[in-house]
Amino acid sequence: MRSAIYPGSFDPLTNGHLDIVQRASHSFDRVLLAISNNASKNATFSIERRVELAQACVSHLDNVEVVSFNILLVDYAKQQGVKTILRGLRATSDFEYEFQLATMNRKLAPELETLLMMTSENGFYISSRLIREIARFGGDVSSMVPKVIYDALQTIHS
Ligand code: ADP
Repeated sequence: MRSAIYPGSFDPLTNGHLDIVQRASHSFDRVLLAISNNASKNATFSIERRVELAQACVSHLDNVEVVSFNILLVDYAKQQGVKTILRGLRATSDFEYEFQLATMNRKLAPELETLLMMTSENGFYISSRLIREIARFGGDVSSMVPKVIYDALQTIHS
């Protein structure tokens, strides 16, 4: 069975994330969308809420499972028996960070491989950070996030 882990903050999940996980679900038997519970990041949505929202967004994908983790990613991947780490790439600006991260993870766990998937043309300008900022000021992000995320953002900013 070919499994992959797609880790991130997903604060909140966007159409860019959804595009990556949807495409990955065709190439792997099992995909874990793994939400990092990183206390040092000041999250807009609690970890429980991010899990709940992500679950609602991927419920149509039978082989995608949403989990949260608060240990080193490579340790969590090994615990889950996963050998492939998936990350998304939007632009050259992402590349530097992703390259560093992938190299660091390879140093920590050479048996794991990082695969970078390029965003599709509709997702390259979307980031969770921008979505949060635009939504905070009442901008329309309805075309950039799934409906449940849009509703959740409306609720916290109303
Ligand atoms: P992190 O805090 O770990 O960067 P994010 O939730 O922001 O977590 O992103 C998780 C992964 O998804 C990262 O590899 C990021 O580059 C990728 N990603 C984020 N937004 C997009 C997008 N619009 N298209 C493709 N990949 C994306």
